[in-house]
Amino acid sequence: MHELAITQAMLDVVLKHAGGARVRKVNVTVGEWTGYVGESIELFWQELARGTAAEGARLEFRFEPALLRCRACGERFPVDGSGLECPRCGSLGGEPAGGQDCTVDSIEVEGGEGP
Ligand SMILES: [Zn+2]
Repeated sequence: MHELAITQAMLDVVLKHAGGARVRKVNVTVGEWTGYVGESIELFWQELARGTAAEGARLEFRFEPALLRCRACGERFPVDGSGLECPRCGSLGGEPAGGQDCTVDSIEVEGGEGP
């Protein structure tokens, strides 16, 4: 399962940033290309975070849609399953231009400096 590895990586980042403070909330961006499922990450999180400063932290997921960038005109457009045709110039295909990552955006800790 890919989610296990990415969840461990996220936890490492969070604990490092928290610097020993109790973690309340973690904001995570999940890209559509990754195929990761929020519920799976949450389950692994509960297991991995047990006994750490991040135990019981709430995960807030932000979903990032898969985007392509047209090689011909540079237009960024969503992949919606109906085709990979650029809506601007009609060229086929493109390069991934968004939604490839699963990253920790920010964290909230207890006794932190505001929002
Ligand atoms: Zn185009």
